[in-house]
Amino acid sequence: MDKLIRQDADAIAAAMEAYASQKGPMSRSGANLVAQLPTPGLETGEDLAELTTLLQSGVSDSHSMSKAFMQSHESFVHSILTSPSEATGCYIAIPGFAGPTGDGWMAPPPPGQENYLTLTLLLAHPLSRGSVHVTSSSISPSAVAIDPKYLAHPLDLEIMARHLRFAEKIATTEPLASHLVAGGKRNPSAPPAGSFADLNVAKDYLRKTAVGAHHFTGTCSMMPKDLGGVVDAQLRVHGCRNLRVCDASIIPLTPRTNPQATVYGVAEHAARMIRAGL
Ligand SMILES: Cc1cc2nc3c(=O)[nH]c(=O)nc-3n(C[C@H](O)[C@H](O)[C@H](O)COP(=O)(O)OP(=O)(O)OC[C@H]3O[C@@H](n4cnc5c(N)ncnc54)[C@H](O)[C@@H]3O)c2cc1C
Repeated sequence: MDKLIRQDADAIAAAMEAYASQKGPMSRSGANLVAQLPTPGLETGEDLAELTTLLQSGVSDSHSMSKAFMQSHESFVHSILTSPSEATGCYIAIPGFAGPTGDGWMAPPPPGQENYLTLTLLLAHPLSRGSVHVTSSSISPSAVAIDPKYLAHPLDLEIMARHLRFAEKIATTEPLASHLVAGGKRNPSAPPAGSFADLNVAKDYLRKTAVGAHHFTGTCSMMPKDLGGVVDAQLRVHGCRNLRVCDASIIPLTPRTNPQATVYGVAEHAARMIRAGL
């Protein structure tokens, strides 16, 4: 992927030619491996005790949701965090340099001709919740205040830092280690190899570099009204008989990473319900 990312003319021509017969890098996702993994460290009693303390100290500063909702959200996420068979992190391997810029776009690879491997981490069940508010009665895209509040909940950073520490362990352990150049180049903003063993370094790196994955959900959640919900199980807006919402906004809790398949499911569900009522 690196030659494509560097806009190498020969690599682009070869990829275009392959795509004409629906093959090559342009015919598939940029990622070549995806893994859903439970919270690292659950297997040792010590880590479990540490995690339990963290769970108990987790406090939400979300002003956009009701207390009842936050309690039930925390209880759901906590059940996932302590389960060895439920994933809290999604690891995506990309055979190339895929560092984000601060505004969420992709940064070009550092100067040179090296090949890179990128491990991207997604928090599967974030507790942080943002808000969307209309700021004026005029119909304009700029009349909306969007605040995603990434990593606002302290537990999100703790969990992500543990996944980051584990990702570095994967990269320095066989079978992956021998595919990488020992002491080779890293993301320019990353600390020296091995630094993420210190969770504080991992958290600091995440605070500086983590970006959103454009997986916005939950602004018109399908939930009871007293929990802060907007639509009922039939996708009808509470208090209205014939107004339905059908898109990613009705998903109350972000699904485990990529939401597009769930959006298709919501659309199928809506089509069936509406057809049945005709
Ligand atoms: C860069 C990026 C990468 C992503 N990658 C993935 C991925 O790899 N996998 C995955 O599962 N998800 C991915 N997502 C998320 C996924 O695309 C969204 O969750 C999904 O598209 C949401 O569907 P939706 O129907 O709610 O909204 P949208 O897909 O945004 O659809 C809204 C539609 O409404 C139209 N519209 C807006 N205003 C008006 C208006 N006034 N009148 C008429 N039409 C209007 C828009 O043009 C648009 O077509 C990605 C998102 C982004 C931005």
